[in-house]
Amino acid sequence: MDHEINTEGFVDNYRRALADAQLQKALANATSRFTMVRSLAVKSAGEEWERLRTRARAIKEHAINHLDHYLEEFSSNIERLGGHVFWARDADEANDYIAGLARERGVKLAVKSKSMMTEEIELNRALAVAGVEAVETDLGEYIIQLAGERPSHILAPAIHKTRADVADLFAEKLHTERTEEIELMTALARRVLRERFASAGMGVTGANFAVAETGTIVLVENEGNIRLTTTLPRVHVALMGIEKVIPRVEDLTVFLRLLPRSASGQQMSAYVSFLTGVKRSATEEGPEELHVVVLDNGRVDMLANEKLRESLYCIRCGACLNICPVYQKIGGHAYGWIYPGPIGAVLTPQLVGRSRAAGLPFASSLCGACREVCPIKIDIPDMLLHLRHEIKEPGLEGKHESGTAAKSFKPAFNLKHRLALIAERAAFKLWAAVMKSPARYARAARFARLVGQAMGDNGRGLPVARWTATRDLPAVPARSFRERWPEVAAEIDDSGKKRDIKDGR
Ligand code: SF4
Repeated sequence: MDHEINTEGFVDNYRRALADAQLQKALANATSRFTMVRSLAVKSAGEEWERLRTRARAIKEHAINHLDHYLEEFSSNIERLGGHVFWARDADEANDYIAGLARERGVKLAVKSKSMMTEEIELNRALAVAGVEAVETDLGEYIIQLAGERPSHILAPAIHKTRADVADLFAEKLHTERTEEIELMTALARRVLRERFASAGMGVTGANFAVAETGTIVLVENEGNIRLTTTLPRVHVALMGIEKVIPRVEDLTVFLRLLPRSASGQQMSAYVSFLTGVKRSATEEGPEELHVVVLDNGRVDMLANEKLRESLYCIRCGACLNICPVYQKIGGHAYGWIYPGPIGAVLTPQLVGRSRAAGLPFASSLCGACREVCPIKIDIPDMLLHLRHEIKEPGLEGKHESGTAAKSFKPAFNLKHRLALIAERAAFKLWAAVMKSPARYARAARFARLVGQAMGDNGRGLPVARWTATRDLPAVPARSFRERWPEVAAEIDDSGKKRDIKDGR
């Protein structure tokens, strides 16, 4: 299957994003709102917040380190409850199973709830090939599907669209009068989607958590569409990565408090569905058939890498995206695949191949804001640094290729990259030599001043012009601090206060 991955076009992608005024407006509004509500929700949790984060991290660490045991337990419980478990090594295996099942059951229409896993394997396309129409039922995903785009945020797929964009889209695709009233647009989408729920033969969801001890799939949402997706169609397919399993029901008391606060600033999500097996009688709600597809798609390789393993702890809350100064400016599509932001810059190279996504781990100032907000305390900056090392270390590239997309990996680590590496190493050696000697430092500062004056307005017209096209290059002051210091020191008295020259004190 030809997966749409455009990670190699990262530079062009982000340049386009930076030049898109509409996108900049949409991103600024949405990310600042998400960040503000999250921060209020965290504040309201008080001291408990840090305890919850520590506990969540410990649970995830334990679950990931004993994944074989908990997956086995989860799978036996699903089968005991009348469900089926399919172990998929990659996207093709998962797609073949789900599309084959739809064909066998005569399904023509499948309703879907928001699921990054189904985006990862491009399930909609596989279903279309099998003659099955897949309709997204989460409002954001529905908007994206109508627009023929893909999500730009793991939680809010249409974050890059303004209200006016959606009004235009609905008027064009749903053939209705244009309105920017949010209530009217939502009511319209609800009306269209209700009809689809009623006639769908299959409901497809992801899984926020999979509880090993009970075989329960837990889904968190705010719109109620997951409830309908999992109860109305005859067949329910839940697609989950191997990392979604947690040991016990009581662990949910931690995650269900952390996830909504981190994701949308809510104390609790509007709906939390606990799905335990198929319906047992005609009067009960629920599907007649339950199929759980457990997907690897490169995650076993992630598990084997001690330095990067904790990327499997992610609960996809999106907080690290909202706080990231890079994501805030370039949005999700620039990253070229479905996982954007800081966690995307860690996940994508592991899933599509380091060489293919070599630019992503460098798209970070390593400010650490992502680690600060992460409810699981995932050390994203450390993993970004490690990935940079793996990508730049000669001989390492290509060793860790994994995931479905890696099958079509083409080396992109060419001569240009190597020359850039040599130049960067030489520059750092020179920097180290200058910083070790005060005399060399003083000469270098004088030289930098002369170069700075020659470069003029933000380096335009000189070799660094490309670098300064997206960055500020502050003007070098006429006199350095070292040169000014004797005068400054003369103005400071013994207690460290500035002398009042006028009073002669
Ligand atoms: S890395 Fe942490 S903050 Fe980012 S999406 Fe995952 S859980 Fe949320």
